[in-house]
Amino acid sequence: MIRLRQIKLNIDHDNQNDLLKKVAKKLQISENDIKNIVISKRSIDARKKDNIVISYEVDIQVNDENKVLNSICNKDIFIAPNEVYTYHLSGTKSLKNRPVIVGFGPAGMMCAYMLSKCGYKPIIIERGSMVDKRVKQVENFWETNKLNPNSNVQFGEGGAGTFSDGKLNTLVKDKEYRQKFIFETFVKNGAPKEIMYDAKPHIGTDILKSMVKNIREEIISMGAEFMFDTTLTNIILKNNELEAIEINNKTIIPCQVLVLAIGHSARDTFRMLYKNKLEMKNKPFAVGIRIQHDQEKINYSQYKDSYQKLPPASYKITYQTKSNRGVYSFCMCPGGYVVNSSSVDKMLVINGMSNYKRDTTNANSALIVTVSENDYGKNILDGLKFQEKLEETAYKIGNGLIPVQLYKDYKNNIISSEFKSVKPVFKGNYSFANINDIFPKYINDSLIEAIEHFGKIIPCFNEDDAILSAVESRTSSPVRIIRDENLESNIKGIYPCGEGAGYAGGITSAAIDGLKIFEKIIAKYKN
Ligand SMILES: Cc1cc2nc3c(=O)[nH]c(=O)nc-3n(C[C@H](O)[C@H](O)[C@H](O)COP(=O)(O)OP(=O)(O)OC[C@H]3O[C@@H](n4cnc5c(N)ncnc54)[C@H](O)[C@@H]3O)c2cc1C
Repeated sequence: MIRLRQIKLNIDHDNQNDLLKKVAKKLQISENDIKNIVISKRSIDARKKDNIVISYEVDIQVNDENKVLNSICNKDIFIAPNEVYTYHLSGTKSLKNRPVIVGFGPAGMMCAYMLSKCGYKPIIIERGSMVDKRVKQVENFWETNKLNPNSNVQFGEGGAGTFSDGKLNTLVKDKEYRQKFIFETFVKNGAPKEIMYDAKPHIGTDILKSMVKNIREEIISMGAEFMFDTTLTNIILKNNELEAIEINNKTIIPCQVLVLAIGHSARDTFRMLYKNKLEMKNKPFAVGIRIQHDQEKINYSQYKDSYQKLPPASYKITYQTKSNRGVYSFCMCPGGYVVNSSSVDKMLVINGMSNYKRDTTNANSALIVTVSENDYGKNILDGLKFQEKLEETAYKIGNGLIPVQLYKDYKNNIISSEFKSVKPVFKGNYSFANINDIFPKYINDSLIEAIEHFGKIIPCFNEDDAILSAVESRTSSPVRIIRDENLESNIKGIYPCGEGAGYAGGITSAAIDGLKIFEKIIAKYKN
């Protein structure tokens, strides 16, 4: 295949025909000589607001590749690389027991998928319920505020990402084509095909639910076993090596290889592991609020008059305060919802989600301020305690509901009484409260300073009627579990994996880390 980059088409173009014409012209060949076109990248180039274009990278099959390539000298035209994920079953050590994976979020999922594919028949333990049951539990929580601490927006089949925007962007550099393989696996199980080439790929909660189920069924068909509503409650060691695990505070399962893909919210499990002397350290993270604006205004600010011809717009903005604090937008959800994503009784945390179509009236995003040991203390788990304190306060001031406030009132430190031009879009009940009461002064000051600055970039950003809600405290794991070059912890046999272990931030990077752990296990153990 020949790869062509930088194919620019105006936003009104007809996908297939105009692309074919443009490619043939660029290669100076007839359209009939082109046997096949595959889009490998697509992005919206909105740098010139009065001339927004769609930029493509395509792989094409032609009758005589060498003749075409020899007749053209252009850095944007070359032989398409062979982008295939490969792995090697080189392990020689025997496994006495089946490997166990704790957590069926993206990290545990991809590790389980590949260990099953290679015949290791893993056991997957997940404290939350299967996705269909989980969906009912979460919807019930959003309606009644009755939380199931083991099966909720953070915990359950598919992990934290199931009720999300399903944005798949990542900053992870991936020379081994793990990401491509992960996306192919997602598409094979129901994800939209454009995630393979969109610059900002997303799936949406409505599709994620069925995709996760399909992947589970494929993993079972390859010999693995699932234990849902099952919690890892302890580890049993001998000479600092894993010998067995305890589940649900009673059952013991002999185990030599344990993949710990527990996510950033498994606080009881972090405490159990810390008590068992699993080495970990504090890791900086960020906390803050979520802000909602009218999506149409965001579309206009990003695309001007062309916005009606383009999908809902997103934004990514950062700011350094005068007191040197980083404030940035995080997990922006165009046409989405702000959701109550709590997982602990009497603690309240929020996040954002959207469906594939991103078709609500509001744009929302987290606005978060970086915090570190200097802010919350140097003892291990102090970061976690800092999160808990913020979430307890959020729960209290909202009377168990999501605390909300208009931006103008937040600045004036008063409780709002009604919404104005921006209408609330939430999953979970909310109540007016003074969000200033949740945070230390340096966080409130940083947020206001940043929002005023962002208003210079996106005109509606600091409008009085913007809706704030809190608290966004689980932006990444507050700890990193130490692992060596074989990705094993200080306790032999335990493989810390994904976001909870502090090696990922987001669906794709967690899934990539799951594959890295899979590769280390098959390099050591034979199936
Ligand atoms: C509402 C929401 C929206 C999000 N939106 C996005 C987005 O659009 N894009 C993006 O990239 N990221 C998003 N994220 C973050 C993303 O979901 C996580 O980064 C990702 O899921 C981390 O994957 P993981 O497999 O490491 O952990 P998780 O997905 O957190 O999975 C860990 C699993 O382990 C289980 N577990 C924990 N403790 C135990 C135990 N003791 N025993 C048994 N099982 C246990 C949990 O139940 C959970 O299912 C969102 C998160 C939330 C909550």
